[in-house]
Amino acid sequence: MSVFYRRGLLVHPEEFDEALIGQMCQAGLNVLGLHPAGGKAAHDSLETAIRLHAMPASRARIDMARDRNISVEYEAHALRWLVPRSLFGMVPDWFRMNERGYRIPDFHLCVSNPDALMYLETRAEALARQLWTGAHRWSFWPDDVQGMGCCCPECRKLSLSDQALILTNAVQRGIRRADPLGCTGFLAYQDTLDTPKKVRPEDGVFLEFAPIRRDHHRPLSDEHCDQNAREIRSVPQLLSFFGRQGAQAVDYWMDNSLFSHWQKPPQPFHLDTEVLKRDAEFYDSLGFESVTSFGCFLGQDYRERYGEPPIGDFGACLQSLPG
Ligand SMILES: [Zn+2]
Repeated sequence: MSVFYRRGLLVHPEEFDEALIGQMCQAGLNVLGLHPAGGKAAHDSLETAIRLHAMPASRARIDMARDRNISVEYEAHALRWLVPRSLFGMVPDWFRMNERGYRIPDFHLCVSNPDALMYLETRAEALARQLWTGAHRWSFWPDDVQGMGCCCPECRKLSLSDQALILTNAVQRGIRRADPLGCTGFLAYQDTLDTPKKVRPEDGVFLEFAPIRRDHHRPLSDEHCDQNAREIRSVPQLLSFFGRQGAQAVDYWMDNSLFSHWQKPPQPFHLDTEVLKRDAEFYDSLGFESVTSFGCFLGQDYRERYGEPPIGDFGACLQSLPG
C-alpha cells in the first residue's frame, strides 16, 4: 500500500540528470525538489540555479520529469537573494536589528517594516516567474542561519517562528501573483520548530518539517533519544496549526551531503532502512501526506565512484509500511 501520495528527493540542481529521472521512476518517487546548497552562501547557489534553470537542457529535463509524473519544485533558502544586502545603504531600516541595537545587513529582515515585506513579495513573484516548472509548490525559505532574528522593539515581541511566518506569508502573496494556484512551504527547522503564536498563515502556506538536528541513526519516535524527542516536540501542534493538507516531511535519510560533512568528494553511502521504516510509520501516524529526503551528493560523481545509490530501497520503504 502506498501511504504517502507524494514521495521524493531533494537534490542540488546540478545533480538533476536523466539518470536520476530513471532512478526515481523505478523507485516510485514522484517529487523532485531542486535544492541549491544552503548555508551562508545560499544566495550564491540560488543565483547559479537560476542561471542553470534558463538553459534549454534544464528546461528539457524538467519537461521529461513532468511527462513521467515527477513534480519538479524549487526548495531554496532564498531570503538573502530576494532582498540583497546591497540595498542596506539606501534602506537600512529594512534589515534586522541585532541584540546591541544596530541595524546590520547580514541575514534576515526587519519583519515589522512594511516596505521591506512589500519588496520581498515583489521579488518572490519575479523569482517564481523565473523558476517556473509547472508545479504549484514553492519553497523560498528564510536564510539558513540560527539566532539571527530582528531585535527591534516591534520584532522583539515576536518569536523566531512568528518572524519566519511573516516572511513566508509575504513570499506566498508574491507567489500567488505569479501562480494563482501556488502554495509556499513554511520551514520548521532549527530556530523555527516551535509553532508560531501571533501570526496566522496565509491561504496556501503549508508545513515543511526538517529535523536536521535529529539523531540520524535512531528513529524519531524513539522515546529514549532526547535529541529526537526535542526535534519532534512540536510536530503535532505544527500540523494542527498549518493543517495536514500538503504537509511535507523533509528528512535526511538519503542526504549524503550531510553524511559527507558537505565536503566533496562524496563519501560511500549506506541507507539506514530500519530507521527509515520506523520514521515512515511515524510520519504516516501523524498524517503527513508528503515525505521527502534530501538526496544530495548521490549524482554522477557518486555513481562513478561507488555505483548506483539506493534510491530504489528508499522508494520501497515509502511505499509499503509494515503491518
Ligand atoms: Zn524589526
